[in-house]
Amino acid sequence: MKIICIGRNYAKHIKELENERPESPVVFLKPDSAILPKNHPFFIPPFSNDVHYEVEVLIKINKVGKHIAARFADKYYDEVGLGIDFTARDVQAHCKEKGLPWEKAKAFDGSAVIGQFFPKEEFDLENLSFQLLKNNKVVQNGNTKAMLWKIDELIGYVSQYFTLKKGDLIFTGTPAGVGKVSENDELTGIMEGKKSFQIKVK
Ligand code: ZN
Repeated sequence: MKIICIGRNYAKHIKELENERPESPVVFLKPDSAILPKNHPFFIPPFSNDVHYEVEVLIKINKVGKHIAARFADKYYDEVGLGIDFTARDVQAHCKEKGLPWEKAKAFDGSAVIGQFFPKEEFDLENLSFQLLKNNKVVQNGNTKAMLWKIDELIGYVSQYFTLKKGDLIFTGTPAGVGKVSENDELTGIMEGKKSFQIKVK
């Protein structure tokens, strides 16, 4: 399986990192080795002093597809969940400055937290509110209505480049409020009041 991630999909988050608003979605991948095993803590990697949490809505692809038209994209997923795209912001800043790929900053072991999924029918995907709590305090409060590209548009876009397969995941981008994690933090992801994940940082 593969993990396809979208960057810069919320205007306020683009602003907080002083990035340019993209003309098309920013896309990068994480390998399956990036997945944090269930019930494991996240260990801050030794190569970074500034690992950030980014809570994101996740889509689980349910069948193979290529060149999917956005209007048919909802046939390609049944479940949505939440996850974290852990990002070594200092490493990423270095990569950006040099025009290098982001994988060392974004695709390292444990960098993909994948929470519990729920049937998509339980939500209004165009108006889905979700939060990240750090030590029981809300640090990110997002809503899919603020996405620059909606879920079905993202599926249409990425499937022009990558054949989607059953079990693939799409990380749809983070809203504003990203920040650094420290040892002993506890991170909890909530979508419309339902807990999707809870992890410890070590
Ligand atoms: Zn992200």
